Amino acid sequence: MNQKDTSSIIANAEENLLHTYNRYPVVWDRGEDVYLVDTEGNRYLDFAAGIAVMALGYSNEEYKDALKNQIDKVTHVSNLFYTKPVADAAERLKKISGMDRVFFTNSGAEAIEGAIKSARKWAFARDGHTDHEIVAMQHSFHGRTMGALSVTGTEKYRAPFEPLIPGIRFADFNDIESVKAVVNEKTCAILVEAVQGEGGIYPATPEFMEGLDQLRKEHDLLLIFDEIQCGMGRCGQYFAWQHYGIRPDIMTSAKGLGCGVPVGAFLMTERVAELSLKPGDHGTTYGGNPFVCAAVDKVIEIMEREDIPGHVREVSAYLTERLQALAEEKDSIKDVRGLGLFCGLELSVPVGDVVTKAREKGLIVITAGSNVLRLVPPLVIEKKHVDEMIAKLSECL
Ligand SMILES: *Cc1c(COP(=O)(O)O)cnc(C)c1O
Repeated sequence: MNQKDTSSIIANAEENLLHTYNRYPVVWDRGEDVYLVDTEGNRYLDFAAGIAVMALGYSNEEYKDALKNQIDKVTHVSNLFYTKPVADAAERLKKISGMDRVFFTNSGAEAIEGAIKSARKWAFARDGHTDHEIVAMQHSFHGRTMGALSVTGTEKYRAPFEPLIPGIRFADFNDIESVKAVVNEKTCAILVEAVQGEGGIYPATPEFMEGLDQLRKEHDLLLIFDEIQCGMGRCGQYFAWQHYGIRPDIMTSAKGLGCGVPVGAFLMTERVAELSLKPGDHGTTYGGNPFVCAAVDKVIEIMEREDIPGHVREVSAYLTERLQALAEEKDSIKDVRGLGLFCGLELSVPVGDVVTKAREKGLIVITAGSNVLRLVPPLVIEKKHVDEMIAKLSECL
């Protein structure tokens, strides 16, 4: 395709899609390994991975074959019946998470909806009344549906859609006193990301997580960990909370879970499941159908066999070293933070300009918050890709 074809695809999209995204002016044709190729044949090193989704990159033939095989068998039957891929995917997800029960959804936001409903139902069944509260964090991000928006700590995302669901209180992330200040006898759950993503890539401190664990014991409440972005190996453990040794009562997953097919999940312990959602309380037509579960099953199989979390720990140590060295050199880098291959560079220059320059040099990066460059590459990157990224980024700063 030539530039004229590319422009006409962009014009067509702009004319017909609802304008909810300011898209970058590039049209992707395909992915290869950890690169994206545009319609004019240009290759870009991809340190965005479709927003932390494409953990296995674009060329895992075993993964692709699993999807093709499942398409030939059956893609959808509804949750009124059993299929092997769904049973297998749930078993594998339980194993890597240490949780007891899985519900598959179509997206991250929908997993959050399920987590909120699970917590409310649990508290209702325990206490025999409603009116419970959930504590969420400022600068958190949990998705765009009404329930997920209600627990998202960014005022400008919520404001136009008020009234949202009631009974939500906000505290400050990594400030346990602020959480204590809003926990009361009505609180049924505290919802956190172990590493705040959209908020600017802030890992929780161990003291904060321990403080939450303490509050759980004192108040008999549930801890809900949103692992949608920081989970599935990204931080060097299957789930980021495993770094802290504090198991949630309910957790959510999505993004890397399907590596490109739309699937999420919420999981809970048996203690929650015993009182929580029962037949009739929750459902989904598409959620966790055999097609997407064939993907989940294969993703986890590959991650376990190849020890992807171990690989992430190794490559991310090198990435961090290179980023810190770059920060020494460049005054425009104010902070380097993150966990595993979930990295943020806080910049003193407009981050949007850096994203544009990087793209012009063949590197795809994205932002988090207003001044943070977010690096969320496929988890299968090698040191040579880190070197290539650093060389390109260095030219942009
Ligand atoms: C992306 C994200 C969500 C929302 O997931 P969607 O699939 O976009 O609905 C929720 N929580 C966190 C932490 C996320 O990063």
